[in-house]
Amino acid sequence: MNSSGFKRLPRYYDENILASTKVVFVSRVPVPPLSAMGLARFGEFERIDMAGITYLDTCFVRTDHAHIESLHFHELVHVIQWRLLGPERFLAFYANGLERFGYRKSRLEVMVYRLQGRFERETQPFSVEAVCQSAIRDLTSHAGRPPSLDCP
Ligand SMILES: [Zn+2]
Repeated sequence: MNSSGFKRLPRYYDENILASTKVVFVSRVPVPPLSAMGLARFGEFERIDMAGITYLDTCFVRTDHAHIESLHFHELVHVIQWRLLGPERFLAFYANGLERFGYRKSRLEVMVYRLQGRFERETQPFSVEAVCQSAIRDLTSHAGRPPSLDCP
């Protein structure tokens, strides 16, 4: 990720996270066609016109939001979540959170929005990875195993 335009991100993220993250600018972010796959209850998620979405180490960011540092901060937290949980557990937690609580209250998004709020309100930098490590440790130890979707 070319973070040269963003002065604050390097104070919150390791160099190697910033260097290995790819950012793709798009007019509309790609969302998996979950309702077409029969997962009608995820229709709400599909209909949100999101400013960004992250898969593994690639962030898709809407062109009209490209300059917003806080959005890049948000997507980078997801990069760390994908890394720490691994793809299978990330998807299981994310889908389970969406199903049970909805987008904004799903646990992985709550974690991100909490950190993003600190980024927006506070000036004191912190290590996002360290905070995520302990938050994810809590999440996985309470849940034991990653939640599974109850397939019909
Ligand atoms: Zn998010």
